[in-house]
Formats: sequence, C-alpha cells, structure tokens
Amino acid sequence: MAFITDNPVGFALAIFVWVPVAIWIQGTLNLAIMAEVDFLFFVMSSFMMVAVGYFTATAPTPGIAWLFFSIAWGQVVLAHPIRTTVRKIELSKIDYDQADKLMDQIGRTLSLVSVVRLGEILRQYGLPGHAVAILDRGLQGKPKQMYASEYQTLASWKRQPLAHQDMRPLACDRCNELNPPGEIFCRRCNNKFLLAFIRATVLQGRTEFKLLIAWTVLVAVSVLVLLSRRFLPTWAFIPLALILIAVGVVVVMKALMRGRR
Ligand SMILES: [Zn+2]
Repeated sequence: MAFITDNPVGFALAIFVWVPVAIWIQGTLNLAIMAEVDFLFFVMSSFMMVAVGYFTATAPTPGIAWLFFSIAWGQVVLAHPIRTTVRKIELSKIDYDQADKLMDQIGRTLSLVSVVRLGEILRQYGLPGHAVAILDRGLQGKPKQMYASEYQTLASWKRQPLAHQDMRPLACDRCNELNPPGEIFCRRCNNKFLLAFIRATVLQGRTEFKLLIAWTVLVAVSVLVLLSRRFLPTWAFIPLALILIAVGVVVVMKALMRGRR
C-alpha cells in the first residue's frame, strides 16, 4: 500500500498498461482466427505485450515505466489503421470476385444491369473514365425510354469531371496491349485486364500490413530478449535469444510471402 501513496503515477501506469495488452491479445487472436496473421505471430506478439506490461509494472525508474507504457499503447495505436486496412482488403477481395463474375456475365449476354454494377466498382477503384466509357458503349443504340435509369446513371457519372489521365489506355497485365476506355476484355488476348487494377489496391493494403508485422516482430524480439536476459542464466539466455531471432525471421518471411500469387 505504501507503494501506491509513494508513487501514484507508477501505480496508475502499472494498472493501465494492461488495457492495451488486453486489446492487443483479443485483436490479434481475431486476426489469427480469420487467418489474416500467422498463429505464431499472435503467440509471439501476445507474449511481448505481456512482457511489456510486466516491465511497466516492475520498472525501477519512472522513465523506464513510461517507456514500456508507451510501447504498449503505441502498438495498439499502430494496429488500428492496420485493422481498417485488413477490412479494406477483405472488401477488395469481394469486389474483385464480383467484378470477375460481372465481366463473365457481360461477355455472355450484354446485361446493362451488370455493366452499371461493374462501372460502380471501377469508379470505386479509381477508374471513372473506363466506367463511363463502358456504360456509354453498352447504351449505344439503346432506346432512352427503355433504359431510363441506366441513362440517368451515365449522366450522373458524367457530371463528375474526369481528369485527362482518367481517359488513358491501360496496359494489359498479360500481353501489355494498351486498351482504351470502353474495353472490358483485352483487344489482343481477351484477358480481363481491368481486374489487375482492382488487385493493385489489395496488394497495396497488404504492404502496409506487412510493415506493421515486421515492426511488431522487431519490438517483440527485443522485449522478449530483454525479458529472458533478466530471468535466465547466461548459458540459457544466449540460445533462447537466438531461437527468438530465428522465430522472428520466420514470422516476417511468412508475412512477406503471404498473398503472392
Ligand atoms: Zn492482353
């Protein structure tokens, strides 16, 4: 009890450091169940957070307590945008699959409902010029009375000004042919070349995610090495530190290889 009155700030830090620890463990467990992170990453980073909590609670000086307290909260603050990214990746995957199916449908029978839906997806992924051109082309020669809502959609898309670069032809990811707006299938090889531009968003999100994993593993290895240094004799500490570094390398490598097709 004397500890509380002697050092109220240290006591508060020792209590409140467990909040981010709990948030982290619960959050990464969810991601591990969703298979967005490796199970090993969940175990390692959770141990790390508990160790950070322990170091905060037992810090010999207030400066060290603050340092570990900040590491714990910093991890949670960093992880927040990453969870948003994971959600964005999940949604992009759904959009990608849907765009793929819509293109197949349009290839079989030109359904204008599918063209509109495809256009909406393309607009969302930064291809508004191609969306307008595809719908424009789909509506060519179609009577206005019968396709009133599609014409209305086209007009509303056209109201938003297009930049010059929105109308640029896009290179096919299979054969490199430049395809002008209005094409759904590559003019040379019939590939669904627009899909590559939806996938680019997914891959970009994954890069941020991988950076966080690499950073977390770096912090985790440092903190866990520190923890084993405190509790283990030197003969046990050195091999354990080497094992931790090796596990860290494996986790980072697995994260880097993830999502490659
Ligand atoms: Zn092609």
